[in-house]
Amino acid sequence: MCWYFYDKIKIHMVYLLSLTSLKKTESNFSKEENLKGCEQKMYFIDECKINSFLEDKSLNDEHFQVEILDKAREAKGLSLRESAALLNISSPEVLDKLFQKAKEVKEIIYGNRLVLFAPLYFSNLCVNNCLYCAFRKDNHKLQRKYLTLDEIEEEARILVQQGQKRILLVAGEHPKMAALNFIGEAINRIYKINYSGNNIRRLNVNVAPLCVEDFRTLKSFGIGTYQCFHETYHYETYKKMHPDGPKTDYGWRLYAMDRALQAGIDDVGIGALFGLTNYKFETLGLLSHAFDLDSKYGVGPHTISVPRLEPALNAPAAINPPHAVDDLSFKKIVAVIRLAVPYTGIILSTRERAELRRELFSVGVSQISAGSRTAPGSYKESRESMDEHSLEQFQLGDHRSLDEVVRDCTIQGYLPSFCTACYRSNRTGDRFMELAKSANIGKICLPNAMATFKEYLNDFASEETKVTANKFFQDELNGLEETIKKKTSRMIEQVDSGARDVYL
Ligand code: SAM
Ligand code: SF4
Repeated sequence: MCWYFYDKIKIHMVYLLSLTSLKKTESNFSKEENLKGCEQKMYFIDECKINSFLEDKSLNDEHFQVEILDKAREAKGLSLRESAALLNISSPEVLDKLFQKAKEVKEIIYGNRLVLFAPLYFSNLCVNNCLYCAFRKDNHKLQRKYLTLDEIEEEARILVQQGQKRILLVAGEHPKMAALNFIGEAINRIYKINYSGNNIRRLNVNVAPLCVEDFRTLKSFGIGTYQCFHETYHYETYKKMHPDGPKTDYGWRLYAMDRALQAGIDDVGIGALFGLTNYKFETLGLLSHAFDLDSKYGVGPHTISVPRLEPALNAPAAINPPHAVDDLSFKKIVAVIRLAVPYTGIILSTRERAELRRELFSVGVSQISAGSRTAPGSYKESRESMDEHSLEQFQLGDHRSLDEVVRDCTIQGYLPSFCTACYRSNRTGDRFMELAKSANIGKICLPNAMATFKEYLNDFASEETKVTANKFFQDELNGLEETIKKKTSRMIEQVDSGARDVYL
């Protein structure tokens, strides 16, 4: 962490600069308030502004909410105030309209595609003490395990043999696993796996925040997205939930994406862990983060994740979530994020149950994990043979295999995509955003999604999946606009004659 202190000084300079832009808001505070909360007011998360929206009764007005929804169809995004108004929707009719608009916007930008991936946990060692996580250092009931390079490669090979093309590497924060050359070697080994032309083509990483220099090194390993969830944007809650370890530092984590972008990592993924504080506050915090990145770098987050608290071994805040979010509110969160940042991918994990996942696909989700395990080394073991809870980070709601999820997607009318073309064609960062913001991404993504799905059907699908999915595939192909259909058909012919990794 050589540049750690240098980066810290830089961050504090950013805070000081951002004070200028906060001046107007600051003058609204009493002197005591100013002194009491001065640390968090230096961040771009403006708690006062968010709270004022949450208290503003005029944002409950149904006519205003409907007006925003009518405008949202243009897929140009929403302001923070408009997002706050939509989070306040309570009338069932307006709520239906919200879900309908989110569905339309999702279709404009992402069509019916759903990109699939799986996490690969390589260590559950951690020096932090997050009250909601089974990996927290004071959890002596957890069996600690970290994988060797051979074991990581073995887990990745299993995922390749299931048909996965994208992996999200995940670990707790620990000096033992923090050596970047170890992560680099793991990534190198994973990218080299080749199973009859099938391989991992995009490796995303979710590890603790790094300094700029280390982010540069991480980028040099050829990662796709750097992902890190702020957990809660509410400062007091953040402090309570992270009692010790490096994660106590709110600012260091909040500016992780700035450092990653400064280091040249084009695609960053943000998220909040829903259930720690009031969900409306959390959503507005998350959107503030997205807007801040977009305004500073001209690139918003590549993805937004919406993890919701799940039970976790010996983790008090997960067993009794302080602000548990019900399913309907959760659906509202996803729909509002989709309308507020139409160009950003929304990731939904297997934390959620299959039925709810199906419902959420329609209101804006564009990427999903499938066949996941959250314990290091658990792809190798059958679920029955291991005491999974003694090693895992939290419990999952969807235990279906990749094949079952793929089949179900097609039954629901969604096109499973294993595409990784943008990343490998250098369509990352602003180049990807430009295509996504102008809703032109579909012209490239659709043929790529079809070709990668065909690879899956030919190489990995069970007979049962082939029966439903082949018919779905043919209907999709027939429904394509003529020029796209021609292009796609040519790619499919190549796949059928044995070529792999065919993309635009
Ligand atoms: N340790 C790193 C960190 O905290 O940034 C890497 C990611 S951690 C292994 C992955 C994510 O899991 C966390 O950022 C958190 O949002 C989520 N998580 C932790 N406990 C959870 C729980 N009980 N239910 C759902 N998600 C949880
Ligand atoms: Fe460690 Fe991350 Fe779990 Fe916190 S969320 S205890 S940092 S693994």
